[in-house]
Amino acid sequence: MTEPIRLSAAAMSSALAAGELSSEELTRAHLDRIDAVDNDLNAFLHVSADLALKTARDVDARRAAGEQLAPLAGVPIAVKDVVVTEGLPTTAGSKILEGWIPPYDATLVAKLREAGLPVLGKTNMDEFAMGSSTETSAFGVTRNPWGRDRIPGGSGGGSSAAVGSFEAPLAIGTDTGGSIRQPAAVTGTVGVKPTYGSVSRYGLIAMASSLDQAGPCTRTVEDAALLHEVIAGHDPHDSTSLPDPVPNFREAARRRDVKGLRIGVIEELEGDGFAPGVSARFQESLAQLEQAGAEIVRVSCPNFQYALGAYYLILPSEASSNLAKFDGMRFGLRVVPEDHPTAEKVMAATRGEGFGFEVKRRILLGTYALSAGYYDAYYGSAQKVRTLVQRDFADAFAKVDVLASPTAPTVAFRFGEKTDDPLAMYMNDIATIPANLAGVPGISVPSGLAEDDLPAGIQFLAPAREDARLYHVGGALEALLEDAWGGSLLDRAPELTGGAR
Ligand code: GLN
Repeated sequence: MTEPIRLSAAAMSSALAAGELSSEELTRAHLDRIDAVDNDLNAFLHVSADLALKTARDVDARRAAGEQLAPLAGVPIAVKDVVVTEGLPTTAGSKILEGWIPPYDATLVAKLREAGLPVLGKTNMDEFAMGSSTETSAFGVTRNPWGRDRIPGGSGGGSSAAVGSFEAPLAIGTDTGGSIRQPAAVTGTVGVKPTYGSVSRYGLIAMASSLDQAGPCTRTVEDAALLHEVIAGHDPHDSTSLPDPVPNFREAARRRDVKGLRIGVIEELEGDGFAPGVSARFQESLAQLEQAGAEIVRVSCPNFQYALGAYYLILPSEASSNLAKFDGMRFGLRVVPEDHPTAEKVMAATRGEGFGFEVKRRILLGTYALSAGYYDAYYGSAQKVRTLVQRDFADAFAKVDVLASPTAPTVAFRFGEKTDDPLAMYMNDIATIPANLAGVPGISVPSGLAEDDLPAGIQFLAPAREDARLYHVGGALEALLEDAWGGSLLDRAPELTGGAR
């Protein structure tokens, strides 16, 4: 039998239901895997072994007693450290929150606990989810399981690395501009940014509230569908939460047949700026879908070229406001200067020491963009661009069912390659940001190996509330490619326990 940790979450769930495996065994196997590889990878900031095992034993006992359990009951999961967890440290990758233990669970964590998923621990991330490489974490970098000198993507590099290295079958990420999809692309895993409002934001440490959305990080499309069903749903604690019932995503992920499905290729997200290998895998993926009966058409979204610029005004504006609460008075770190400390001096010293460079840059940018006299020129203009991007989507979705582009412009780059050039770093999200500006859902699915034999991803986007289309087209492509490859991309990953490639 395949080693339990290498199974998909769906297969784990069947094995648990059939009594071939206990959740305690499965959870222990993952904790052992974390012990074996995480010193090297640093995907986890905190491992909650005792709590995970307790949940596992509880699920096993309930199953033995004949209780009807949720499909993913007993399947362990890792949670990005930007999501608050009662009794477990939560830092958002920042020194300013070191030592803080939240007194409550985020809604999505409460849902995980209710469904019986043992929480293995909290995963590393760029500080306050600002970045594309996990290099801005205050707690060291996370390494890409495909190459130890490579970034695992960001901001959710801990979650993508944990899933890609079989430390966890499932993880939670958050995507404000691409932080679920881009890490998935560069680690050969699957990542979904749900429709804005589909998953409650209550208990996420907010970066940009109008853009943030939590979602699944997994190894298969069906696993993402299963996890999405657990965490989605209306939440009265989040005023932007949608009232819709949760669709059957799993069924969509198993549909396969793509005959007549119209897929629009976004002209503005092709060619220049995309690595040749990434573009080639993208074209091959489209060819597979076309051969299976999908219709590939080209569409233009002319305002997407302004999306990155608008994002880097809207995001810092909202972040500068959201991060004002970290002032040394309420949470985590407090730095008290020696000479007659006033409240203001304590705040300044705490923020000076507690925040890293990228966070400070964005707070300054946002404060400037929102200041009197500049507000209309910067924040106001960015909001107008946002409307234009939304119109581009509306026009495109009048012609096609889903849109497609490469997820990230390149494969995983090396540590340090882009740290001195914020614009180069920001360009990683050129293809993912439009979805956040419009609130529409997106999925990244592995498209094959590109430059340096490293994974690349293809992204599909759907209209708001049509997340099921992503599972349909993503599941179909995954099946077609796996047939062509004779297995999953991760089967071709280097031996993940042994050193560099
Ligand atoms: N890389 C983007 C940024 O730095 C996206 C981050 C995210 O989605 N959390 O803002």
